[in-house]
Amino acid sequence: MPDVPSPINIPQAILDEVFAHAREAFPAECCGWLEGPKDGDAVVSAHPCVNVQSQGTHPTVAGRGEERAYIFSAADVIAFNEGMDADAPPLIIYHSHPNGRAYFSETDTKVASNAWDGGKMYPVQQLVVGIDESRVVEAVLFDWSEGEQAFVEIQRFAGEG
Ligand SMILES: [Zn+2]
Repeated sequence: MPDVPSPINIPQAILDEVFAHAREAFPAECCGWLEGPKDGDAVVSAHPCVNVQSQGTHPTVAGRGEERAYIFSAADVIAFNEGMDADAPPLIIYHSHPNGRAYFSETDTKVASNAWDGGKMYPVQQLVVGIDESRVVEAVLFDWSEGEQAFVEIQRFAGEG
């Protein structure tokens, strides 16, 4: 895998914030992004978003095997786009899977891809958190591979417990 990008560093404290957000949102998916210095190799803060898709979904869907898309609120989309020009832009977008598994789904690929040329929609990496009713099971960071023309796993994190 010669062309797989190196993972942006996520400090444990930031990862814990993401896990806490995933827990708070469960059984819905959470979403948000992690920011860090432009052209840097680490994130320094988390920006949790409102998942518009999860609003109005029924709480009894916990444990479903299928995931839904996550959709940033309008205000978050504006903040994200403005952030792209900031000194500490979004470097990683994150979301959770309430089925406990951290994989990059077809839906995730669609949302993260540029519909025109098939590459990345935004210059960010993608963190997926697999959470179930008892704990965060695993988390995986993905990025676009030109060679494979797909989002590939670039780092895996242990879950809780
Ligand atoms: Zn997903």
